[in-house]
Amino acid sequence: MTTTHYSKPKSNGYYVAKDECIGCRRCIRVCPQGCIDYSNVSAMIIQENCLHCGNCMSTCPVGAVKESE
Ligand code: SF4
Ligand code: SF4
Repeated sequence: MTTTHYSKPKSNGYYVAKDECIGCRRCIRVCPQGCIDYSNVSAMIIQENCLHCGNCMSTCPVGAVKESE
């Protein structure tokens, strides 16, 4: 079970590696902010609205959601 960390500082960001995304859209369904769009070939995270809850990363079946430092 993934714990949500809403108080985590927004010093880093989640993003989708386009070449790894298979377009299943699971991340879009689990995002509480609705801040993941689907564009052309992959999901895309709108970082300014992201709560850093980690749902997208833990849900992605291929590990395409990454967290930058
Ligand atoms: S869950 Fe992963 S593979 Fe599926 S759309 Fe999101 S980033 Fe792409
Ligand atoms: S970390 Fe949470 S709020 Fe941010 S894009 Fe992923 S599911 Fe949405």
